[in-house]
Amino acid sequence: MRDGDPMQHCRTITQLDEGAVQAVCSCGWRSAVFGTEKTGGTMDPLQQASEAADLHEWEVDLS
Ligand SMILES: [Zn+2]
Repeated sequence: MRDGDPMQHCRTITQLDEGAVQAVCSCGWRSAVFGTEKTGGTMDPLQQASEAADLHEWEVDLS
């Protein structure tokens, strides 16, 4: 992370009800909710949220 960035992107994985997780960022960004039936898959929801957060950081880093 560079010094002097006007916006800090501090990402957190938030635990929701019934094992659902969501990545949130200090800039106000939120990922989809993982670990529900809708987004359920073979991947660990924590892993999915972590990857979504990484993708967010990558996208903002490009802009
Ligand atoms: Zn952010």
